[in-house]
Amino acid sequence: MRDRIETSEQLTFPEMNESSSSLERVDSVHEMTSEDVERLRKIRPKTLGIVCGRSDCKKDLHCFRPPHRKFEDGPGPCQTCGADLVKWDEMWIRELRDPSEKFNMLKVEWIRHFFFHVPITPRIKGHAQTLGLDGLATLAEHQLMQGKMLQFNPDWDFNQTKMLDGNIVHWARHAVACCCRKCMAYWHNVPTSARLSAQDVEYFKQLIILYIRQRIPDLQYAPAPRKPAQKSVVGRRKAG
Ligand SMILES: [Zn+2]
Ligand SMILES: [Zn+2]
Repeated sequence: MRDRIETSEQLTFPEMNESSSSLERVDSVHEMTSEDVERLRKIRPKTLGIVCGRSDCKKDLHCFRPPHRKFEDGPGPCQTCGADLVKWDEMWIRELRDPSEKFNMLKVEWIRHFFFHVPITPRIKGHAQTLGLDGLATLAEHQLMQGKMLQFNPDWDFNQTKMLDGNIVHWARHAVACCCRKCMAYWHNVPTSARLSAQDVEYFKQLIILYIRQRIPDLQYAPAPRKPAQKSVVGRRKAG
């Protein structure tokens, strides 16, 4: 009898109760497949552990986000282990002089690293092809020019950019740290008190496009010609 109860408990679906949240916690982005991304995208990022404050210092993935009360003091070493790995003065020059060096610095933060490596799914690639790089640049600009990005709003800043459930522009914004004004503030030294300038928008748009070109190298500038409608087959293939 006892065995039977235990068995039925094990059959509970993971999404159905709180105690199961650890089961869905993403351990390492390198173990994720494209199918995992599509399966998990409707689950709250917090449940998955895909959050800005996360670090995994043993794997050299840190968190430089300043604590709430000290936010205006700016970033420093990792909040968890104290490792001092980012050359902030170089990072803060908002010019595209050495973007690969900037990408390398971004990748030592857990959340940025995640979005630099999360597998590109057929849904993400399909959407990107539908718009082409030109259309994605317009989309990026549109997202950056929203009121809540132009002007910091503490009520809207947090949680404003979709994560797994978004498109490649959302992913790029998390990777290059222009997902919200707070990330922009500590990674790029754009004070939350300032209105985002046209130059800033252009800079972030360029970073977003560079990210997209790295992640989907064969993406064209022009939108892909429309194909006749067909049933979508969501990622049977393992992500490479
Ligand atoms: Zn650390
Ligand atoms: Zn952010």
